[in-house]
Amino acid sequence: YDNRDGWIWMDGTLVPWRDATVHVLTHALHYASAVFEGERCYNGKIFKGHEHSLRLIKSGELLDMEVPYSAEEIDAAKDAMLKANGWTDAYVRAIAWRGSGEDMGVSARRNPVRLAVAGWEWGNYYGDAKMKGAKLDIAKWKRPSPETIPSEAKAAGLYMICTMSKHQAEAKGCSDAMMMDYRGYVAEATGANIFFVKDGEVHTPLADCFLNGLTRQTVIGMLEDKQIKVHQRHILPGELESFEQCWLTGTAAEVTPVGQIGDYNFEVGELTRDIAQSYEKLVRA
Ligand code: PMP
Repeated sequence: YDNRDGWIWMDGTLVPWRDATVHVLTHALHYASAVFEGERCYNGKIFKGHEHSLRLIKSGELLDMEVPYSAEEIDAAKDAMLKANGWTDAYVRAIAWRGSGEDMGVSARRNPVRLAVAGWEWGNYYGDAKMKGAKLDIAKWKRPSPETIPSEAKAAGLYMICTMSKHQAEAKGCSDAMMMDYRGYVAEATGANIFFVKDGEVHTPLADCFLNGLTRQTVIGMLEDKQIKVHQRHILPGELESFEQCWLTGTAAEVTPVGQIGDYNFEVGELTRDIAQSYEKLVRA
């Protein structure tokens, strides 16, 4: 991804894509002191762009790391990056991290916090099979307790187990993995939240130890508008058998139907299709 034409916004200015580099003694590279956002721009407008900027700042606060820009400045940086690249439809990645400084130990108070905003074209997160139903592995890694890590933050360090789980899933021919939490409840996929349907009602894990995605919140609002009951609760893996439909939500994943998790099968049913279409309509509105 480093050798392309284009522009990346970095620490206040637009720089040519190939020049958007950092030093190897960057604190974030050694100690995961980075927070980021994934956003999508549709028809020239980032869906919930401002909410993403606010979440980036909040994630930084949770890591004791003050992002040195306001949400409005981050919004403007994203617009400038999109404009410089001539994109109306793109995935947008904002990332704030501890740079290199006077110290190279765990403590990073004296290291500057930096910000970059990049983007790229990213079609269906799960490829062409999107509406056919993704196949999910069950990850061996568990989402940790909120007493172990700041689980509300969209922080780089939380993705270590996601990458490992996704690699294991791909090695088994799956597109992603469903992760359980530290208590054994169903949590989420490696970069998306999860929903289930049973008897016309929707069940989704309570977001008490993983990212409460903006897409998750949007979809819950859409379901409530459609007068469909949503149960946010702890879900045991043994319940998978009783669910008829399943889908994932996320900025990159959008609404992606799930056809299989481990040995359990789900249909790409009417409600799943309806929610996927309603979401598509909403983000492009
Ligand atoms: N969980 C994880 C681990 C994620 O990486 C994402 C993607 N940001 C989500 C959930 C969904 O969040 P959102 O809907 O805000 O993109």
